[in-house]
Amino acid sequence: MTDVPGLEAWFVTGSQHLYGQDALKLVELHSASMGAALSASSRIPVKIVTKPVVTDGESIERLCLDANSSPNCVGLITWMHTFSPARMWIGGLRSLAKPYLHLHTQFNEELPWATIDMDFMNLNQSAHGDREFGFIASRMRLSRKVVVGSWRDANVHSEIEAWTRAACAWHDAQQLKIARLGDNMRNVAVTEGDKVDAQIKLRYSVNGYGIGELMERMHQVTEGEVEKLTAEYDETYTVAEPLRPNGCQRKALQEAARIEIGLRHFLADTGARAFTDTFEDLHGLTQLPGIAVQRLMADGYGFAAEGDWKTAALVRAMKVMSHGLKGGTSFMEDYTYHLKDGGQVLGAHMLEICPSITGDKPSAEIHPLSIGGKGDPVRLVFTASVGRAVNASIIDMGNRFRLVANQVSLVQPREPLPKLPVARAIWTPEPNLKTAATAWILAGGSHHTGLSQTLTIEHLRDFAEISGMECLVIDRDTKITNFINELKWNDVYYHLARGVS
Ligand code: MN
Repeated sequence: MTDVPGLEAWFVTGSQHLYGQDALKLVELHSASMGAALSASSRIPVKIVTKPVVTDGESIERLCLDANSSPNCVGLITWMHTFSPARMWIGGLRSLAKPYLHLHTQFNEELPWATIDMDFMNLNQSAHGDREFGFIASRMRLSRKVVVGSWRDANVHSEIEAWTRAACAWHDAQQLKIARLGDNMRNVAVTEGDKVDAQIKLRYSVNGYGIGELMERMHQVTEGEVEKLTAEYDETYTVAEPLRPNGCQRKALQEAARIEIGLRHFLADTGARAFTDTFEDLHGLTQLPGIAVQRLMADGYGFAAEGDWKTAALVRAMKVMSHGLKGGTSFMEDYTYHLKDGGQVLGAHMLEICPSITGDKPSAEIHPLSIGGKGDPVRLVFTASVGRAVNASIIDMGNRFRLVANQVSLVQPREPLPKLPVARAIWTPEPNLKTAATAWILAGGSHHTGLSQTLTIEHLRDFAEISGMECLVIDRDTKITNFINELKWNDVYYHLARGVS
């Protein structure tokens, strides 16, 4: 569902002709072993393809154009082994339409104190070669990530890992289609936004469909298909008594299965890898999609409720970024608080929380939905596993998209929640509920979020940087007075940076 296994980042080493062929051969060897080591790193999720060392403007520009047109290349990792006069890079960097990471490293970890001579000095010049390269990127106001340290260092690998995952999500966004069944929940503000602006800046396209498109596909579902899927439900979940075979509400489970199969056909036909629905537009459906949406999210689809396409896109991006990592990612909503004991958030939704965030076996249950006036929907009920997580939201500020991210700790509920009929997550936000909620509200962050146990603030920062989004982080270092200043400064920056466009 995420394409990540087939993706690659290109490792590009810069030099120049002045050093002569013998030195350049060594540069090639160093570059090849570093590229191979990065490719072999278990942390980095994409293949690292080492490109021939570039030594002039023409080869640099050709490489950048090749990267632009390569369907599998998510971006470049650049390193100047020696001095690579940076005016050679202007043409290529101007053409480059993919993200890049500047790896500031050198082949040797230790200075060879006893043997170092001028030959060694001339060959191992990244310390100033990379500064020359950094200057031209700064002079051209190019967005990039700079990672400093030994190419053997695990911390360096994990910084590269975060960036490659963000680059994969950006790569995914280029072709991402988001299907909306129905419009936004009526009168809601934060889930609205400019879809044209989103397509220009964030690349994904958002298109609306009538609920009839789903109904049509549901009508084509056979009894045999329903039978097979309900049997899978029986096997995978702890199914509540009334929903079991011969149970008094088995029909509702069968209808839920029909919705899931119909949705899968709808998404396959439209090519959408993220979608929204709304409880205000369920014409012809007997129940709000619950278990169907939960299982589709678990498969990697982005989703958000009430027509919230920005959060659906964010959940999809977070799913791509977290490919292959342990832990889950889900659509989430700040629902209600425990204001005692330092403060905690109970996150949930009417139904649609992804079971990837629990290590427990979810139970399939049926309960009334006190909103929307439809039949009782089937849903998976569980509690999110404990541990660190990030909670993030994207809002449309009118002249820019803003990503707000909060570091949180998922905790065990203090007491059992025997009457809560939905999946839930309980967390303590950093630095504490009071500061986090103050900052979140001042930033205008949505009640809808993407919550991930696998991602870190670094992944989200890298993704925002690559996407050209404003990024506001709320974590243990957040102080409200500073945060208010950051909001004001950012307003000025984004007003000026936008120019006349
Ligand atoms: Mn909601």
